[in-house]
Amino acid sequence: MKSLTAPHILDGNAIAAAIKAEVAAEIEQLRAHGIRPGLTVVMVGNHPASEVYVRNKVKTSASLGIVGEMLTPPESITADEMLTLIAALNARDDVDGILIQLPLPRHIDAKRLLEAVAPEKDVDGFHPVNVGRLQTGQPALAPCTPAGIIEMLRRAKVPVAGQNAVVVGRSDIVGKPMAMLLLHGNATVTICHSKTKDLASFCRSADILVAAIGKAGMITPEMVRPGAVLIDVGMNRVTSQTEFDRFFAGDAKREAAFQKNGSVLMGDIDPHAFELASYYTPVPGGVGPLTIAMLMANTVRAARLRRGLSVS
Ligand code: NDP
Repeated sequence: MKSLTAPHILDGNAIAAAIKAEVAAEIEQLRAHGIRPGLTVVMVGNHPASEVYVRNKVKTSASLGIVGEMLTPPESITADEMLTLIAALNARDDVDGILIQLPLPRHIDAKRLLEAVAPEKDVDGFHPVNVGRLQTGQPALAPCTPAGIIEMLRRAKVPVAGQNAVVVGRSDIVGKPMAMLLLHGNATVTICHSKTKDLASFCRSADILVAAIGKAGMITPEMVRPGAVLIDVGMNRVTSQTEFDRFFAGDAKREAAFQKNGSVLMGDIDPHAFELASYYTPVPGGVGPLTIAMLMANTVRAARLRRGLSVS
């Protein structure tokens, strides 16, 4: 059974552009007071895939008026040297946001390093102090992806209060903070994970279904209630023709991209399920662009909070 009305696409690119324009205007105002927010991204070692993301973050920063900096210590850097580097960034007055690009080499304890970042500069919102602030509903730096999803729902006027929200995935980066933000929005929240019994029935109970799993097309149409809001966080590469045909048969544009590049990006939700939705986020072009926009917003927020200025 299809949704009674045609599904609305939640256009992440358009919403991210609007957020970035607002951030740029805010930076302009701060500049009049002699404040220029700064963001430092630290990427350890050589990761061609991450490098594209990191460069993109620094480039976007610059385009909005944030002073972006990229530090690339070698893979051989020791844990102590990393802690010294973070301490130096914590002490720098021109740095408002510090982001440590994951994954880190095995010999560096990521949790310990993330805890070394000053909570007021933790623009990823991963520090236990910010996790606690988020949980207790105090002004905090919230993780960018879930914060972006909430912002998207707010701007698209998708009701959250009183809705049954089901979040599939319980990572510290996406699933858990997502559930907490939905709870603060007065949704009734269920968190599912790999040990959940009868995942399908939980998913079918969702008015808002957030998939943050990392498994291509795992949420099938049978798991979706007609009229549900579908938020697809997953970013998976489809490389096999069989898998491609299962999800995208008849999609000529995507087929051309698949033949040209040998792969296409897709989310955790089978695209056939989108036909049932009232609203859905496409992949690509849904949740992804919001993450970077919220990183920019968090950097400005950090700059304001650190100076005792008001934040919304
Ligand atoms: P993690 O691997 O940290 O977490 C995945 C979660 O999915 C876990 O909680 C896991 O359960 C759960 N899970 C795995 N298999 C199943 C299953 N069969 N049934 C139910 N639950 C299952 O991933 P992340 O949260 O970091 O990322 C999730 C996805 O989102 C990835 O594809 C990632 O690339 C993407 N992502 C996209 C972003 C964006 O900007 N668009 C940003 C961040 C992530 P358990 O805890 O029991 O193991």
